[in-house]
Amino acid sequence: MRRHKTAKPMRRCIACRESKPQDELIRFVLRDDGPAVDTDGRADGRGFYLCRSEECATTAIKRKAFNRACRRNVEEDKVRRLIEQVLDNDRGGINAKES
Ligand SMILES: [Zn+2]
Repeated sequence: MRRHKTAKPMRRCIACRESKPQDELIRFVLRDDGPAVDTDGRADGRGFYLCRSEECATTAIKRKAFNRACRRNVEEDKVRRLIEQVLDNDRGGINAKES
């Protein structure tokens, strides 16, 4: 049986375009010098989202989804570094959350 949980804000991934709860996505924010990871989800600015998965990371890079989201050309290396930083963190569990 399906339970109704409190509605979470849903956001769309720029790679697979699926809507997911915000906490399953990485939030990026566009700064003057390009996109940055918004770790606590509260930074000002134009934001966009990507799933916390290697698959969507690869898709985003391949399809230049960042360029579209930022409306400018973003270096692929920069994108890759940003994403790796987040995925590494997830894997290492440095940010282990209390539940
Ligand atoms: Zn995705």
